[in-house]
Amino acid sequence: MRLNRGVHVYSIPMRTRFRGITARTGLLFEGPAGWGEFCPFEEYGDEEAQAWLACAVEAANVGWPEPVRDRVPVNCTVPVVGPERAHEIVSGSGCSTAKVKVAESTLEEDCARLEAVRDALGPNGFVRVDANMMWDVDTAVTAIRAMDRAAGGLQYVEQPCHTLDELAAVRRKVTVPIAADESIRKAEDPVKVAVAGAADIAVIKVAPLGGVRRALEVAEACGLPCVVSSALETSVGMAAGVALAAALPELDYACGLATLQLLDGDVTSDSLLPQDGYLPVLTKAPVPDRIAEFETGDQAWVERFQRVLSR
Ligand SMILES: [Mg+2]
Repeated sequence: MRLNRGVHVYSIPMRTRFRGITARTGLLFEGPAGWGEFCPFEEYGDEEAQAWLACAVEAANVGWPEPVRDRVPVNCTVPVVGPERAHEIVSGSGCSTAKVKVAESTLEEDCARLEAVRDALGPNGFVRVDANMMWDVDTAVTAIRAMDRAAGGLQYVEQPCHTLDELAAVRRKVTVPIAADESIRKAEDPVKVAVAGAADIAVIKVAPLGGVRRALEVAEACGLPCVVSSALETSVGMAAGVALAAALPELDYACGLATLQLLDGDVTSDSLLPQDGYLPVLTKAPVPDRIAEFETGDQAWVERFQRVLSR
């Protein structure tokens, strides 16, 4: 691989603890086509990290395929908060799709939050929920039916249970579409999900799938409508996710790419923040002109990068 300059390891605090982490760490480098971001989560081994590297190398060395749209719709995210706060978040977001975290509070509290979200969105907005594998099949069926009523119709429920068998069982019992997220971590997973009849929708992330081109192939192979989501990248890595959403032949759903606000800072002054519910499509990642503020020089990350690069 050709690198124009050195590599830069960054660490940015999270505004709120998310996915068990309090800071997002990764590595940025520049190639002939622009900047790439390598940011596999810390617990991932070198083999799993290879796809993340391929995504970063594509951005830095090759660039992305031609987009078929110049902006992509995004959802706002409503964490486990009370109904008034949920209403404020949705009203202030400019988004017409809201993704609501559920299953971490009581069903009554979840339903109250969903009623508030529907009220804030109006009848034409879309409400989706994410249960992050928290339910068994029976609990999921009961909860989904109640939440569908409270929300005045759910667009879909993301990962209600852990296994593909459980997802398939829930899917047979409810009318709300099922989306697979945690079941999709590697390029071969979306096809497995489709074959198992476990989901109606695949949540795809550009870095774990190995870049924009590879993710487009995966999306086509699984034959499911896709929702493009982030892996909590800075704006540099996020631009690749937007490039994927921009190049998908069909984009029926708002993307989960408005996650930059979860980080307490960004490596660029041209942050990928939504406007009126959309993110702009860029031809290359924004230049990280603010890396110095977050640079750690952590040698373990440089060594990780070199190990994965030499595989
Ligand atoms: Mg999810």
